[in-house]
Amino acid sequence: MKKRFLFFIVFGLIFASAFSSSVSAADTVPGGPSTEGNTSYESVISYDEMIKGLKQIEHTSKGKVEVFTLDDYGKSEQDRSIYVAKVGSGPVKIWVQAQIHGDEKLTTGAVMELLKTFGSNGSKEVKTILENATIYAIPMYNPDGSLMNTRTTTLYDESGEPRKDNRGRNMTIDLNRDWAENGFAAKESLAVYKYWADVKPDYAVDLHHQGLKTVYGTNYSTSMSLGVSLAPNGPTLPGIKGGLYNDLTRQMSVYVYDALKDYGHMHIDRYQTGSGEKRYEIDIKGGVVSAMMIGLNYDNINPTGHSNPAIFFETKGNTRDGNLGQKSNGHLEKQNYLGLKALLYGLATDEVKQVDPDRWEEIPAYPLAGYQTDTGIVPAGN
Ligand SMILES: [Zn+2]
Repeated sequence: MKKRFLFFIVFGLIFASAFSSSVSAADTVPGGPSTEGNTSYESVISYDEMIKGLKQIEHTSKGKVEVFTLDDYGKSEQDRSIYVAKVGSGPVKIWVQAQIHGDEKLTTGAVMELLKTFGSNGSKEVKTILENATIYAIPMYNPDGSLMNTRTTTLYDESGEPRKDNRGRNMTIDLNRDWAENGFAAKESLAVYKYWADVKPDYAVDLHHQGLKTVYGTNYSTSMSLGVSLAPNGPTLPGIKGGLYNDLTRQMSVYVYDALKDYGHMHIDRYQTGSGEKRYEIDIKGGVVSAMMIGLNYDNINPTGHSNPAIFFETKGNTRDGNLGQKSNGHLEKQNYLGLKALLYGLATDEVKQVDPDRWEEIPAYPLAGYQTDTGIVPAGN
């Protein structure tokens, strides 16, 4: 009897969770093609395919797109090369990085598509970008994590074995928390940081995925969120460079918002975390682009204190939660591609600077509860 009762409870729970997930899926249908279904790893680009693709792009572009590794600066924990593609000849230096989290995979495909366009397309828009800007793209910042399909990466010792913590577990690290005074635990962090300090970009774009959310006040599934890891109008950014980056990050976000809002199935909002009626914005200093904006000088590698503004693209779904379905992949990849191309044009031509930064408030957002900082929650309005 007892066993049978338990069975009903267990069955009931399974049924309830299956039911609620199908209800929420139905609610989110207007946000673009379904992300239901199993993620197919065959349909997302692997590390080896990326290398092959980059070499092909370099070849067909007749050297217009230069492809190289950061081996002189360092490799990944598991000894893989980090690849960079450089294209353009203009003075405005723009840094593009994707897949710092190894389970946020469509971002890499979008960068590859963009490089392909830059290598082959002679349109006026592309010419304008490449005459005015030089693009430094890292399509896969975290190759080890990508192969392991994990957000983090795993630290390895000198004998090529995973390092263990005191409970015998593999030591992992979020590479997007590792550009900090007490950070740089992973080799890839130092390699990319040294390269960044050499390049001294003027702007950066960092491509991510987020979990599923809906645009505030609607049942539309958010297809992309815009923001950055030092929240615009938050506790830190207005104090940097007299508020310059607070303006530029908002201008960059609004520019992308304007460029994408008429593209089908696109529901863009501000990047916020949490799940309630009120949400949080993140304000963390160890995030890679946070450190770029602060001008971190770790180990005297950036002695001039170079800094640059940056924004995030946060695309819906990820392979960690298993909610990246192949039906929506093409659409989401194209959204990233179009948003990126538009932003690069806006930065190359300075059009971004014509945007009213206060239009940031027009991008849909939940009422703000506060900021998630390295030291805890700072309530909004303080
Ligand atoms: Zn991410």
